[in-house]
Amino acid sequence: MSLDQELVDAAIDLARTRFPGQDWSGAAALRLDDGTILTSTAPDVPNNAVRLCHETGAICEAFKLDRKVMASVCVTAADNDRGYWVLAPCGVCQERLFRYGPDVEVAVPDPTDHRRWHALRLRDVQPHWFARVFPEDVWPYAPEQP
Ligand SMILES: [Zn+2]
Repeated sequence: MSLDQELVDAAIDLARTRFPGQDWSGAAALRLDDGTILTSTAPDVPNNAVRLCHETGAICEAFKLDRKVMASVCVTAADNDRGYWVLAPCGVCQERLFRYGPDVEVAVPDPTDHRRWHALRLRDVQPHWFARVFPEDVWPYAPEQP
């Protein structure tokens, strides 16, 4: 399995070390096909319309390294110092992760305790992904090779 507690802990470790003592913190971690874990976080900016997701930096780094993303997790600090909640990837990040196919694993929170999580494949998070209607496209999606 590509998504495991080690990957979740990598995201939490970054959030804790980058934002020590702050009420708000968040970060993401990706596992690549060679086992490498990339982490990233996003700056808080005055204009909410231009905010980035925590995953964005790691997704760009994976592309720079020309490695396939196998798994992704995003966390944010829970209220009242109750640990970290796992966040499912937003729709934009799902689209970014689809570059690597529908079998990318993402962490989704348990509905009764957001600190707990389980892994789902993108195909199960978004079974009606828009690109499936194009018959010339391959499912799973495969980016064109040079
Ligand atoms: Zn996102």
